[in-house]
Amino acid sequence: MRVESIRTHLQPYRIHARRSTTVNHAFASAIAPADAFAIDRVRTAISLLGQDPDVDLACVYCGLPAETWDHLRGLVVKRNFSGYGHVLGNLVPSCKPCNSRKGSKDWRAFLESTPADRSTRARREALIAAYVAEYLPEPLTVATFEDRCPELMAEFSAIRMEVLALLARADDVAAAIRAAQVGLARRADASPTSSTPSSARPVVASAPPILSGKRRTAMSDNDEITKMDWVWLSADAIEQFKAWRIQGGATAASASSYATGARSFVHYCRGLDKDPSSAIEDFYKNLARNSGITPRARSDYRSHARAFVRFLSATSRQRGSVGT
Ligand SMILES: [Zn+2]
Repeated sequence: MRVESIRTHLQPYRIHARRSTTVNHAFASAIAPADAFAIDRVRTAISLLGQDPDVDLACVYCGLPAETWDHLRGLVVKRNFSGYGHVLGNLVPSCKPCNSRKGSKDWRAFLESTPADRSTRARREALIAAYVAEYLPEPLTVATFEDRCPELMAEFSAIRMEVLALLARADDVAAAIRAAQVGLARRADASPTSSTPSSARPVVASAPPILSGKRRTAMSDNDEITKMDWVWLSADAIEQFKAWRIQGGATAASASSYATGARSFVHYCRGLDKDPSSAIEDFYKNLARNSGITPRARSDYRSHARAFVRFLSATSRQRGSVGT
C-alpha cells in the first residue's frame, strides 16, 4: 500500500453518496414477492437440486458446505425491482465465497467461471436449470405493478425520493456542523445567503452552480457542499424526475422520454460554469450541431430540460427551503 492511498480517507463521510445504493436496493427489494415457508415443498425442491434435504446442504456452484441462500437472479437491476422475488426457485444453497463472487452475475456465466471440470459443471447447471424450470415464476414487470396500483406505486416512489433527499439534506447539515467545529464560517462570511441558516438552504438549489474543472481543484467549504449537490443531481435526480413526472400524471413511457432529454441536458451542463436554468437555450442551440437530432426532437429535448429545471425548483421548495 502506498502512502497516497490515505487520501480517500482524509475526507468527510457523505451519507447520501455512501448510502443511496442501500436505500434504492431496500426499496426495490421491499416490493419483491415472497413465498410462504412450506417445508414439504422446500424438501421436494431441494431433492430436485440433487441434494438430500435431511443432511447439511452443499453449495450449488462449488459443492462445498453451503452457509447461505443465494438469489439466482438479483432482486434489483439499475436501482429498480428486477421482477424476481424471494421465492423458492430463486433461492439456492451457496457457500459465502461463491455468493459474494457471483454478485449480480448471471448464474450460468458464474458457473462457467468456477474451477470444476466440464462434466461436473454441466451436471450442476442441469440441476439448477431443472429447479428453475419447476419453481421460478415468470418475472413480474414494474409496468404491471404500475397498472395494478398506480397510486401506491407513486406514493412509494415519492417516499423513496423523500428519503434520498433527506440523506442529502443531512449531508448539508453535517457539513455545516463540521465547519462550525473548526471555526470555518467562510460560507457565512462571503455568500449572499449568509442570513439563511444552513439547514434551511435548498439541498438542490433551483439553480445549483455547476463547477468547472478549474474550480473543483480549489474547493472552499461552500464549494464542497455545492459539489455534493451536483453529485446528488447526477446520480439520482433523473430517476426522481421520472417518478415526479409519473406522480404528476405522466405515463411511464412519457416520463422515460423526459428523462432522456433531462439526462442529455445534465450531461451538457457538466463542466459549465452557469446555472441550469440559464443553460437551456445554449443546450438547445448546441443540439443543432448534432446532425442526428431532428428539429422536432431538439425542441422536445428543450421542453424536457425546462421541465427538469422546474422539478429542481419544486423539490427545493418541497423541503421548505427559501429558494434562490
Ligand atoms: Zn460455493
